[in-house]
Order: sequence, then C-alpha cells, then structure tokens
Amino acid sequence: MKRRDFVKIGGLGATAIIIEGCNASGKPEKKEILPLVDLNETKVISTWSSGLKANKTAIKILKNNGSALDAIEKGLNVVESDPENTSVGVGGLPDANGNVTLDACIMDHNFNCGSVSYIKNIENPISVARKVMEETPHIMLSGKGAYEFALKNGFSHKNLLTESSKKSWEDWKKENNYKLPAINHENHDTIAMIAMDRKGNMATGCTTSGWAYKMEGRVGDSPIIGSGVYLDNEVGAACATGLGEAIIKICGSHAIVELMRNGVSPQQACKIAVERIKKSNKDLKDLQVGFIAMNKKGEIGSYSLYSGFNYAYQDIQRSKLIDSQYDLDWEN
Ligand code: ASP
Repeated sequence: MKRRDFVKIGGLGATAIIIEGCNASGKPEKKEILPLVDLNETKVISTWSSGLKANKTAIKILKNNGSALDAIEKGLNVVESDPENTSVGVGGLPDANGNVTLDACIMDHNFNCGSVSYIKNIENPISVARKVMEETPHIMLSGKGAYEFALKNGFSHKNLLTESSKKSWEDWKKENNYKLPAINHENHDTIAMIAMDRKGNMATGCTTSGWAYKMEGRVGDSPIIGSGVYLDNEVGAACATGLGEAIIKICGSHAIVELMRNGVSPQQACKIAVERIKKSNKDLKDLQVGFIAMNKKGEIGSYSLYSGFNYAYQDIQRSKLIDSQYDLDWEN
C-alpha cells in the first residue's frame, strides 16, 4: 500500500488521504482514510437551557467521530422524551382542543431534508423526520400520513399528554376563555440545534409542540425547511425559535444562511433577520423570536427580538448557557 493522492476537502482544511492497494483477491482497490478535523473544531449549539443536556448527548457522538446528523437526532431525542419540557415531545402543551401535535425537521450536509408536521402520539418526531428524509422520495409528511408512516417504521403509539400538561390546558381554558398566550421565555423552549462533526460536515434540526393552545391544525415554522432551520454545508446553518408565523414570513433561517454566504458574520446575520421581523410585523407586542447560527468556520451568533432568549453551547471542553443579544426589553 502506498500513499498516492491528497484531496483537499471541507472548509476547515481537513485532508482526505486516498490509499491505493490491492484487496484480498488481488484486485486494485482505493481506500479513503477519514479526513478528520481537529477534535476542538467539533461543536454543537442549541436553543434554550434544555439544549444543555441535548448537547451533552450530541457531543459524545461527535467526539467518537459520529456524524453531525446522528448528533442532531440523538441530541434532540433527549428533550423530546423529557416529560418535564412542555414545548417539545412528551409533555408538550396541547392545542386548544387538548391534542398534542408535534412539528420537526432535519437537514444534512448534502441538502437532504425531512420533516413531519401535525403528527400526534409519536414521542420522537425528529427521528420520523429523518426517516422521511432517508426512506421516502418526499420531504414533508403531515398528520395521519406522518403518524402511519411512523408506525410502519417501528415507532410506537404513545399518549403524549401528561397529567401536568393536561392540567395546564384545563386551567388555561377556564382562565383565558381560549385566548392565546404570548410566546415568551416562560412558555416556550422549542429546541433547534446545529452541529459540526469531525469531517467538517454540519447538520441541523428542530422539534416542537408549537404554540401552546394553538388553533387545531396550526403548523409553525419548525417543520418548514428555510424557516425553522436551513443549512448549506459550504456556508453554514441557522435555526429559529419563537413565533413561527413571524419566522415563516421572512424565511428566517434561509435568510441568515444567505447573509452568511455574502460574508456577513453569524451574529450580524441573526440581527438582520430580527430587524426584518420588526419591519414585517406591525404589532411587536408578545412577538418573541430568537435565531442561532454557525458558519463553516465554526463562528457562532444569536439574536432575539426581546430579552430572555438564551442558547446552549458545547464543544469537547466546555458547556455553557449564553444569553443572546437582543433588541427590546421584555416588559411582562
Ligand atoms: N417556533 C415554534 C412555533 O411557532 C414555537 C417556539 O419556538 O417556541 O411553533
């Protein structure tokens, strides 16, 4: 066996080594040796404090040379399966009629993406979204079709409405006469995540039960590629949390990636997206949105309209919760 060729890949300067030799039956064979980037370059960020424990699972996968895609899926599963989190998966607050309906999407470094919306009774929608991406010619499955696809693919039916979320919903009905609550840091911690693996590949995903007590049938930004998340592996990734209706209007995550493509830093790109949200909505009262972004160099940014948004950062050495920069002080 001899080293023959060197191919430059990725934005982090990793080098793939192609080795030419012979296989067991004497036929010529080329082998590509894993082009690993420095372990210190792998990292993961995710929205809100629940991201801290999701990141822990994700970084373990990345440390062991796992893919960013696996890190995203398994990291997000942690929060989906946590009944204490009332914005994601099991324990998510239901819609106005008491149904827990979930939205999720995932995207890899080759523009592959998968999504489920308005799915009920399935604990891990991000994993179903990945299956949609990998096993079907489609990108989005919704409602009953998404649920049945999940069952056919080995997921089990589960009641996602915990006693405590049911009680919150009943109290809300009594006290608020069906008035929608604001999306703020008290009732929302939808998780959206971006990871960079040792091949220098990125992936992103998000998962949510959406706006608490929403109208039945409502779908937010979280399952919509370009709004809830977006990734171009040559440029970087962005994802969103907050009022989905406002994020969809400006294709928030896609807008941030396009800004980064044009040389804008992740931080500034998130800020510009928030400015667009300010411009495109007359009434900013109760309109919280937050974005996080990472570019191909591993630089990170975040910005929210109101105070109160934070995100979790994790690399192989550090785990921290970082307060996002923001535009306005939350007054409630
Ligand atoms: N973006 C989600 C939605 O609108 C909610 C959230 O992130 O808090 O469904």
